[in-house]
Amino acid sequence: MIMEDGARKIMQQSDQLAVFSSMQGGLTRAYLTPEHAQAHQQLGSWMEQAELETWQDSVGNQWGRKVSANPTLATLIIGSHSDTVANAGKYDGNLGVLLGIEALSALAEVALPFHVDVVAFADEEGTRFNTTLIGSSSVAGCFQPEWLNVKDKNNLTMAEALVNFGLPANLAGSDARKPQDTLAYLEVHIEQGPVLEEQDLAVGVVTGIAGAKRYQLTLSGMAGHAGTVPIDMRQDALCGAAEMILAIEIFAQQHDVVATVGKCDVSPGAVNVIPGEVLFTLDIRSLRQATLESCSVALLKQLEVIAQRRNLQMQSQQLYQAQAVPCAEKLQTLWGSVVEKKTGQAAFYLASGAGHDAMVMTQITDIGMLFVRCEKGISHHPREQVLQDDVGIALDCLIGMINKMAGEYTN
Ligand SMILES: [Zn+2]
Repeated sequence: MIMEDGARKIMQQSDQLAVFSSMQGGLTRAYLTPEHAQAHQQLGSWMEQAELETWQDSVGNQWGRKVSANPTLATLIIGSHSDTVANAGKYDGNLGVLLGIEALSALAEVALPFHVDVVAFADEEGTRFNTTLIGSSSVAGCFQPEWLNVKDKNNLTMAEALVNFGLPANLAGSDARKPQDTLAYLEVHIEQGPVLEEQDLAVGVVTGIAGAKRYQLTLSGMAGHAGTVPIDMRQDALCGAAEMILAIEIFAQQHDVVATVGKCDVSPGAVNVIPGEVLFTLDIRSLRQATLESCSVALLKQLEVIAQRRNLQMQSQQLYQAQAVPCAEKLQTLWGSVVEKKTGQAAFYLASGAGHDAMVMTQITDIGMLFVRCEKGISHHPREQVLQDDVGIALDCLIGMINKMAGEYTN
């Protein structure tokens, strides 16, 4: 009954949180925006209702703590992100935060041998600055000061955006957690893929997260009159980009990677002007770190050859990289036993092709993740959907996991 009520509450809260959006009729919530502030205020008040101590940290992450009267172990952190991609679904990230709060609410009367912190990371998706995982990077001690100079599409730097949000830019990343103070990091997240649905399972234990690299490529040619410059005398940056984008698709099909060009800006961007400059992004991922490394180098070389043949200048800037990371064996085993107990079925194990805050948190502590089935594997889309019953099972498992860790880690 508690799980049913909890699951219903989480579904309602997901709807309520989705209102904090910069987009009419849809959900877009980027870092350091008024919507970020509103969503975190709402999460903070739900955290307080769950009897948690609340605070905001140096980069705008929202925290709530279930204080242990007698902590004999380091702090357990449970979290996920509250920011979204453009025109997003309601459950990516946010579901994990709400499950954390509700689990601690259910455990309000239970004495634990550790503090439990639930955190809503303010930026995971990188929607605003193209730099992802800002929130968890700060907590894990790997906030890069040069990020402060990165600009959004309105030419506002992250430093300026932090100040406008009410946070001193010089303190960003200054309140990182220490490994010795952290017991583990747990994250529950929608699968964002079709595997659990295919297996007819509500939840699955995550074995690890694929590594990823992101680049910004700038292709410079020569703008000119669309009527007067003959085709064979042009340095059309967009034609170069088009050839490159298709080459990237073919490369990914031939190697053990996925690769995506998700953003493309054309300048000057007029109907009667030959494109002089194109800026586009490249995202490349693999579960094997060595494959990711060798394929990134090979692919960029291939793009360089295309640029030279077309007499274009190519500049590549790596925006971001994340190592392929395994989830801790011990936490996989504990999740597995909890899932078996709560569902009466053998636990199912799967890898994550998407990046998550957990892969940064691995810098300071063991990570353990649980995936929740989502309809048709659809995510980063308004049609993202989860079943209330699955949310109840995930909640039951998370509560079971916290209790299990209290027992396992004190022995
Ligand atoms: Zn996510």
